Amino acid sequence: MSNSINYDSSEFTLKSYKTYLKRIQDQYVFKFFTDDIYQESVCLLRHDVDFSLESAINVAEIEYEMGVKSTFFIYPHCRFYNIFWERNRDIVSRIIACGHRIGLHFDSQFYSIANTVSFEKYLEIEAQMLEKVFDISIKTFSFHRTDDFILRSTKERYANLISATSKKIKGVFNYISDSNGHWRFKSMDNFLKENHKNIHVLTHPGWWTYDEITPRAKIESIMEENRKIILADYINAVNQHNRLDIK
Ligand SMILES: [Zn+2]
Repeated sequence: MSNSINYDSSEFTLKSYKTYLKRIQDQYVFKFFTDDIYQESVCLLRHDVDFSLESAINVAEIEYEMGVKSTFFIYPHCRFYNIFWERNRDIVSRIIACGHRIGLHFDSQFYSIANTVSFEKYLEIEAQMLEKVFDISIKTFSFHRTDDFILRSTKERYANLISATSKKIKGVFNYISDSNGHWRFKSMDNFLKENHKNIHVLTHPGWWTYDEITPRAKIESIMEENRKIILADYINAVNQHNRLDIK
């Protein structure tokens, strides 16, 4: 693998994830973004679901078993999953049944947003869409990609939704993220040893797997799983209607 400096694939397994959760549990109380979070020893555990709802439910169930609560931010413009497919809606229902919350993972670049009025308009549209599709209430959002406009959008709330990356949260919570499948600035181990008062942990569930494989292999595995599921769905539909599966 190229660019493999400091990458340890054993660190990004679900087994390792459990170990991190236990360590966080020893030091912090997990809270939702909607809770009274401005106290000491709070962990905001956030998952931006960029790639895989199957991975999200794996993480959700582990957290449920450990009594951990977190917020899963669902990405309506995702290339990897379709929120309107009943299969995926059912996965989101299972995440909710684990006691977790759902937020909106918002991609402002889809709309070429340049001002707060249009930002709030589209934010509201997408939040309402998730509310209707999943029959839930959406109270928080996170940004998928950043640009100059997003970097300036630092208020606590927009369109009555709590921003996961407000200036206030950034000021009180020390942040770590597994973006691109590795810890970018410091390892989780070192981060937890620093004993911060409050922490904001962002993970992308697709990066946490049973096997010790590279981030690229994780993406390929998610795509391969999707291919199999979609093909099985097609074959099932053909058989159900007694049609020919012409290859
Ligand atoms: Zn994202």
